[in-house]
Amino acid sequence: MICIPIVADNPESALQDMAEASKVADIIELRVDYMKNPDLKRLLEGRILPVIVTNRPVREGGRFSGNEEERLALLKRARELQADYIDIEHDSVQYLSAHRAPATKTKIIVSYHNFRETPNDLTNVYQRLSQSGADIIKIVTFANTITDNIRIYRLLQQAEMPTISFCMGEYGMISRILYKRFGSYLTFASLKTGKESAPGQMNINELLNTYQIRKQDNHTSIYGLIGNPVSHSISPVIHNTLFREMNCNGVYVPFKVDNINEFMREFRELHVKGFSVTIPHKQSVMGHINEIDPIAQRIGAVNTLLNKDGQLAGFNTDCEAAVKVLEDTIQRSSGSMQGENDALSKNNLPLKGKNVALLGAGGAARAIAFGLKERGALITIYNRNYGRAQSLARDAGCLSRKYEDIHSLVADIVINATPIGMFPKVNETPLDKSILKPGMVIFDTIYNPLETKLLQEARRQGCTVVGGLPMFVRQAAAQFKLWTGQTPSLELIEKVALEKLRGA
Ligand code: NAP
Repeated sequence: MICIPIVADNPESALQDMAEASKVADIIELRVDYMKNPDLKRLLEGRILPVIVTNRPVREGGRFSGNEEERLALLKRARELQADYIDIEHDSVQYLSAHRAPATKTKIIVSYHNFRETPNDLTNVYQRLSQSGADIIKIVTFANTITDNIRIYRLLQQAEMPTISFCMGEYGMISRILYKRFGSYLTFASLKTGKESAPGQMNINELLNTYQIRKQDNHTSIYGLIGNPVSHSISPVIHNTLFREMNCNGVYVPFKVDNINEFMREFRELHVKGFSVTIPHKQSVMGHINEIDPIAQRIGAVNTLLNKDGQLAGFNTDCEAAVKVLEDTIQRSSGSMQGENDALSKNNLPLKGKNVALLGAGGAARAIAFGLKERGALITIYNRNYGRAQSLARDAGCLSRKYEDIHSLVADIVINATPIGMFPKVNETPLDKSILKPGMVIFDTIYNPLETKLLQEARRQGCTVVGGLPMFVRQAAAQFKLWTGQTPSLELIEKVALEKLRGA
């Protein structure tokens, strides 16, 4: 079930929000602690869906700051008015036995909130709450690390009575999205952004549209992005759209991971079917996989994991994606100058013999260097940390130059594989425009912004330019194919990515 909390500060607005929420939720939580004069009778008469009445005190993360007697009297009144549920805090539970109401249909939720952490004694908390006379128990904690979610998952797997449980905060988002798989009685979603009742609460549209929460069931395959940060990634919207459009029962979630060792160990039991891997884990994840594709092994970086019956296989889809984008760009630019047929016959190996200046020596640069080398390009690496440039040059069989020498580079193709110029530092560029000459191909792997300052200046100088989006689209398509065996439409991925990037 999806529950929308109503956090309006007056009954009028609350009734409006309840009506709106009733179109999309299964249950409503009336947060009377947000209201000045909650007219409970009117509010409950106006309900369309079942309602939980909650009057959360400040000590449990709520807004009610009056005295305890007044607070509990409101819950008693809610029960007399036949509220469907009341939520009562674990430390007020003795109130229930003192005020038994025999003829009520109201179910009692006994709740525990911890806004600081996910404590070690979760099982004790569960035991205590389950012996309190509750119909349903609720244990909500703050996640300080992604693995806190797994502790909530284990608790729910062992729960013997209806239990609402999830983690708050950015790290806890996956427990809200995957609540059915976790086994929680319900999940919460805000009516819209700005109407959240707890940290990390997502809005209902995101849960319904991006994460297809209504369609998830026990057979839904879980996929996700391992990285840090992950909150601005466009991968969830892309892969979840593909699952929907291609009728695959899958969901893709962001895993914000600090400690890759702990994550890889603890998350085995969730049986995640596949991962994308991004900064800063593309190399460190390699110590946790059972087999590595030979190209990924040579590159020394993995951006895709496939779970084959518990055995993790690692791949690198950046490499082929970048090469394909450059080949297409060269084909197109020479096609427009010489005529399609002529160009195609001459350019079966469009990268062969081309002088390429590659800026950067990180994960993306490594993938690109190996890919281009295989196609016969003559590559020179420029990197801020020269030792790293030398090391990549040695591994991939190319040249390296000091980063200061960038100002005198001469090349057919320049590739930016550094984050210089990436949002929010969009006024930066790795190259002075005087280096850019007509006829050069400039490939910036950055896709946010879609056209970096480097590309804008290169376009003005008469260069052929290509941004990072086509590479991103191709690497995402290759990941999807590895996971599902199905080939997605590049146009669809591009359309979704553009919508997301332009809307962001
Ligand atoms: P990474 O492994 O962290 O490597 C970053 C590289 O950029 C390193 O070589 C680093 O040099 C250099 N660098 C960082 N800040 C710099 C600065 N201020 N001045 C000079 N050099 C700097 O990251 P990555 O995964 O390779 O990603 C690099 C870029 O590729 C990012 O912009 C990312 O968006 C892009 N990318 C795009 C796609 C796509 O599909 N379009 C895929 C992957 C990556 P040092 O060695 O000196 O630190």
